[in-house]
Amino acid sequence: MTALFFCALMQASHASKTPEITDAGAFLDQTESLRIKDHRHFAERLAQIHRESPALTMAEQWHLRYLDALESSLEGNYAAAEKPLHEVIDHSGDPMLAAKASALLMNNLAVERRYEDAFKLAQQLTIDLPRIQDKTVRLQVLSYLSQMLNLAGQTDLAIKYAHMMEDTVPSVTNSCYARSKLVAALYNAKRLTSSSPELKQVINTCEAAGQPILTTTGQLILGTLFLEEHQPAKTLSLLDRIAPAIRLNQYYPHALSAQAQRAQAYEQLGEDEYARKAALAALAMASPNDISDYLKDAYEVLYRVAKRHDDTASALVYYEHYVAQNKGSLDDAAAQALAYQTVQQRVLTRKLETEELSKQNSVLKLQQALDAKAAEASRLYITLLIILLAAIAFWLFRTLHSQKRFKRMAIRDGLTGIFNHQHFISEAGRVLRLMEKRRGHACLMSIDLDHFKQVNDTHGHVMGDAVLKHAVAICQQHLRPVDLFGRLGGEEFGILLHECCHNQGMDIANQIRLAIEASPMEKDGSAISISASVGLAATDTSGYELLRLCTEADAALYRAKRAGRNRVIADTESDGLLEA
Ligand code: GH3
Ligand code: MG
Ligand code: MG
Repeated sequence: MTALFFCALMQASHASKTPEITDAGAFLDQTESLRIKDHRHFAERLAQIHRESPALTMAEQWHLRYLDALESSLEGNYAAAEKPLHEVIDHSGDPMLAAKASALLMNNLAVERRYEDAFKLAQQLTIDLPRIQDKTVRLQVLSYLSQMLNLAGQTDLAIKYAHMMEDTVPSVTNSCYARSKLVAALYNAKRLTSSSPELKQVINTCEAAGQPILTTTGQLILGTLFLEEHQPAKTLSLLDRIAPAIRLNQYYPHALSAQAQRAQAYEQLGEDEYARKAALAALAMASPNDISDYLKDAYEVLYRVAKRHDDTASALVYYEHYVAQNKGSLDDAAAQALAYQTVQQRVLTRKLETEELSKQNSVLKLQQALDAKAAEASRLYITLLIILLAAIAFWLFRTLHSQKRFKRMAIRDGLTGIFNHQHFISEAGRVLRLMEKRRGHACLMSIDLDHFKQVNDTHGHVMGDAVLKHAVAICQQHLRPVDLFGRLGGEEFGILLHECCHNQGMDIANQIRLAIEASPMEKDGSAISISASVGLAATDTSGYELLRLCTEADAALYRAKRAGRNRVIADTESDGLLEA
């Protein structure tokens, strides 16, 4: 027996001795594949590569760094693993290695009860999952995700990831991993009974895959289910059957769980003394600060047994321990769920914020578009308005201009620009009424060009027009703005002198007549001499009535013509023929 055992050891140590590292990359890959199956061998190979320090490529150096962190984690030194794992995630530049490092770090954080950090990584891995094409890496990530979500009470998701695991790489070993996660999630979801096919499957598959720890895990779940179903005898017989494997595995949680189950089973069978011993054996395995469901179960058994046997003092102590363990595990579950919810909430908030932001963005864009449209429309309106205003202004200008023109045409003579007959008469009437009121004086002059017909006949009608204008201009030089000047017809003009008595009127009339006489019309170097006859009527001699003044002035003019033209005759005078 000893020899056999020795041989087996020799074989193992012979197998583990690798002569030399020829291909460092392959060596690292093989080492990694041993991580769960053969931890001792895994650790030895890592030590070897460090000892022999072969030349490693950059990628191999990162791989080794990851494996070192994995080794630290397997030994429970999570603090030592944390920094290199972060470095691999952030700087290795290898997405698959980074995914593995993330998954491992996530697991370590959860074990250290840093649930919030763990769920943050889980969140990121869930996002990255579709991009993970390497099947082994994908399997590993899915496995850790299923475990994490199960911890957080998200059993449906945990089950989903477990199913995804099974679809990833169809091998017995992977099937064992996948089914273990599935059963763990189903158990937490209270969807397992001792006769559930999933349970039988996991036990059989993991046994076939040579995975003793996972096989026992399945079997211990079955033991718990028998207890829940009040079949303690079945639990005990199962525990007896698997006891050698548990001893061989030397896996502390299994030993503890088996012992606690044994205590519960005995208690259900009414075997209080056996139950008490089994529970105490479970407690003996634990470290002082351990908190676990198994310890809670053990204390519960001890409390009830002590109570039944009227050992009140012990019952109280066990009860306190039971409460502490229960609270510890409840707190832990609550912390896991809370951390998960917190991270989810943050993700949701960020998503909402992003959605809100993009909504705000589109509203803003829409507003800008509307503003631009509105500005364009405003510009159009303003342009149209300006055109309209310009059109109105132009129309107004044209209207005013033509009104002015019509008005001018209505009151002025078209050829000479002075008042026409009608306007002259109406204005003269107004001025005379004013003079009468003020007791002022005015003179009315009637002027007629002499032998004008001859001018027309000799020099043409156009020259006749020019002579008319010329004569008007001479008259205007002797008039004040207040005096009225109008064309009464043909070559006959009327002037109403403002604030002017008879004698003053005579002076002005003579000045005008002399000026006309002295200013012949120039034409082609020769002069066309002109003269005018003037009849004058004054208010101080003929009164303020326009009709009478006109008659008197006309009569005087007539007399001037008769007397030989080119002279001034007043209403008070007779023509020169009588005088003569
Ligand atoms: P008298 O000295 O007696 O006033 O002789 P006269 O030729 O000036 O008078 P008459 O009444 O015989 O002729 C007036 C002429 O004035 C007749 C007409 O052809 C001319 N006449 C009237 N109006 C205009 C006008 O607007 N332009 C021109 N060129 N001639 C005109
Ligand atoms: Mg005449
Ligand atoms: Mg005349």
